[in-house]
Amino acid sequence: MRVAIIGAGIVGLATAHAILDRGHDVVLVEPGGKQGRPTDGNAGWIAHTDIMPLASPKAWRNLPRWLMDPLGPLTIRPGYLPHLTPWLARFLLASSPSRIKASIGAIRSINAEALPAWKSLLSSLNLNDHLREHGILSVWRHESAFRQSQDIVEHQRNFGISAEVLNPAALAKLEPALRNVEAAVLYPEACHVSDPAVLAADLLRLALERGAVHVAAQALRIEPRDHAIHIHTDGETPEVAADQVVVSAGIWSRSLAAQLGDRIPLDTERGYNATYPKGTFGIGRPIMFEGEGFVTSPLDTGDRVGGAVEFAGLDAPPNHGRTDAMVQRLSRFLPHLQSETPAKRWMGFRPSIPDSLPVIGPAGKDRRVIYAFGHGHFGLTQAAITSRLVADLVERKSVGIDLKPFATQRF
Ligand SMILES: Cc1cc2nc3c(=O)[nH]c(=O)nc-3n(C[C@H](O)[C@H](O)[C@H](O)COP(=O)(O)OP(=O)(O)OC[C@H]3O[C@@H](n4cnc5c(N)ncnc54)[C@H](O)[C@@H]3O)c2cc1C
Repeated sequence: MRVAIIGAGIVGLATAHAILDRGHDVVLVEPGGKQGRPTDGNAGWIAHTDIMPLASPKAWRNLPRWLMDPLGPLTIRPGYLPHLTPWLARFLLASSPSRIKASIGAIRSINAEALPAWKSLLSSLNLNDHLREHGILSVWRHESAFRQSQDIVEHQRNFGISAEVLNPAALAKLEPALRNVEAAVLYPEACHVSDPAVLAADLLRLALERGAVHVAAQALRIEPRDHAIHIHTDGETPEVAADQVVVSAGIWSRSLAAQLGDRIPLDTERGYNATYPKGTFGIGRPIMFEGEGFVTSPLDTGDRVGGAVEFAGLDAPPNHGRTDAMVQRLSRFLPHLQSETPAKRWMGFRPSIPDSLPVIGPAGKDRRVIYAFGHGHFGLTQAAITSRLVADLVERKSVGIDLKPFATQRF
């Protein structure tokens, strides 16, 4: 069987390998060079222990404070508000206690298999060196804020996720550079990768070595015909025909799905980061600064602080005042950062659905087109398990996970 994959970000690349593993032919339709592709600039976390949707009690607790601050962790650019209204309406619907509970259950159902799926993918390709198993820390500036978040830690433990509350001495031993932290939880099973862009480049190189064909073009239109699905492109190969097509073009999937009659509430939560020379932060593992809206990661290629959620669409220029504000807030925890030289800055487009669940499943009108996009904050984490589910869907096999919460039909 010939399977065309539209979009070779982390989800499309993992999917290419899963489909090659099953002995099928793969064509990757990918133009390359898209600015703000989140596959390259993310924080590198395999955060399968994080099971909270964005519409969570945590977000609602912090929302008033965040929205008051124009450079705070969550902003909606006023001009974008009319475009975002349908997304926000669905976000509100996804915030009822029963819907939050359902989202948590669905996130957990795939996150529980996320790390084993990554380990199996990496070891099958001899890429184990990309995985860093040092755990992930959550830290709180104030003990009182930690107490308010304890329900989340309990939730995680109820799902069998290890979460170790650290006393100040244990934290100081683990991360001596950190200051002004009153509470911390270590998730020993969470991991990160060497560098997400380097990992993606290796996955692409190996997919091509394994026989995948790269069509360097943008897919403009998907046209299902009786015997094949045709993809019309803007490149030298104007048409690609395949038995099945996977749409994994991140935020850019929305218009492709719309052409097929699926109106999906996919919007972008723009995120920002700054990357300093390796070792600048003096921290040994990724850290989530709870309530602050940013995380840090010690990558092989540099120390990264990233986060923020900005709703402003694909076209508005980046506002790196937001990155500066993030660095400013980080320097409360790492005071030595104030004397460091400015870092490399980046902005990228998380592909987000209001209920924080990706779309994984067939298109509404043709089962030969399979969607795999909308992973929001968890796209790296969930890429390998998504790829396994997509390969099962391609082969019409039972997937072993209830995919109803991820279906297009939920909208
Ligand atoms: C600041 C930040 C930090 C993050 N940190 C983490 C983290 O630590 N852990 C985690 O799990 N997730 C994280 N994420 C989220 C994660 O990066 C994304 O969910 C993930 O990268 C989405 O991958 P993707 O392959 O679906 O999409 P993308 O990375 O957007 O890739 C889509 C691909 O499709 C291609 N494409 C677009 N249009 C077309 C077309 N018409 N035809 C053909 N190809 C097309 C693009 O060129 C691109 O290569 C973070 C995101 C941000 C912004």
